[in-house]
Amino acid sequence: MASNNQFVTFNNGEQYPILGFGTWKSKPGEVEEAVKVAIDTGYRHLDCAMFYGNEKEIGDAINQKIDEGVVSRQDLYITSKLWNIFHQPDIVETVLNKTLTDLQISYLDLYLVHWPMAFKEGGLDDDFIPKDDDGVTIEGEGSYIETWQAMEQLVENGLVKSIGVSNFNKRQIEDILNIATVKPVNVQVECHPYLNQSKLKEFCDENDIVLTAYSPLGSPDNPCRKPEDPSLLENPTILDIAGKHGKSAAHVLIRYQIQRGVMVIPKSVNKHRIESNFYVWDFELDQEDMDQIDGLDCNCRYIQMKEIEHFKDYPFIDEY
Ligand code: NAP
Repeated sequence: MASNNQFVTFNNGEQYPILGFGTWKSKPGEVEEAVKVAIDTGYRHLDCAMFYGNEKEIGDAINQKIDEGVVSRQDLYITSKLWNIFHQPDIVETVLNKTLTDLQISYLDLYLVHWPMAFKEGGLDDDFIPKDDDGVTIEGEGSYIETWQAMEQLVENGLVKSIGVSNFNKRQIEDILNIATVKPVNVQVECHPYLNQSKLKEFCDENDIVLTAYSPLGSPDNPCRKPEDPSLLENPTILDIAGKHGKSAAHVLIRYQIQRGVMVIPKSVNKHRIESNFYVWDFELDQEDMDQIDGLDCNCRYIQMKEIEHFKDYPFIDEY
């Protein structure tokens, strides 16, 4: 089944499976089994982050599947992300090493700066969302430029194969490109038919950067979700197209990204849905389908972090 996976090629020559497996909100106690099912199903690209609080269990699953001989480390493509309280350059390698220890691996395939804005600097035992006495998140002082330079050092030191950013807008990516000695290979952002990121994608294409779509199914289990948020999985256009191909709405949403050349990382902890989401290789959306799906864009962002929109590096102020 793994042979069904398609690969993208990064600007540094590394290849990466276009379809990956998301792990945000997958709880300790359920994530280990989910990752094992995912690897057995054929997923080879795992999307992780220290902020998700489950890298140790994911490491247990990876380790077990390597021990069983199902995969080798080289077969896997593992992404993690540097959290917002760790932007100061002198802590970046320590934080990466904690992720490597938890995941029980010696290198990462891809390491991303999780968000452009810094929270108040902290250590590994500190709160990931530092708050003042009024419960307001405290901003940090650093600049993502210096953070990027520390990320470059990780590549030099052989701890990470590729580096990129997440939730950065076009202007912020340009800031990085202007100083980079190691170019970002990947930008991971929220992306689905209601927020198809066509302008950011065009910019990334021009700069040979691969886009990754997070929350590709509309993140129905996102804790910030409001009741009035529209449901992508129940969108009539998506359901019509799914019916036409004899597939599910989730298949259409995943396949849409693959056909645009966008990496896509749906999350599930349900065995049936983990397996089902991987079977997107036996059908093709035609141009009319793609145009109809493109037409659903309405700038609907499920993940906004509005409470910190006054931070100097908050990304979602710019148009894209
Ligand atoms: P998502 O993948 O769009 O949606 C996950 C939700 O959809 C879960 O509730 C899941 O439930 C359900 N689901 C999965 N497959 C389904 C299917 N076939 N039919 C119906 N429902 C289905 O949301 P996401 O977790 O927000 O995004 C995916 C991944 O992107 C994350 O897990 C994370 O790795 C990454 N991400 C990154 C950032 C960032 O800041 N860089 C932000 C958000 C997400 P079950 O688990 O019960 O199946």
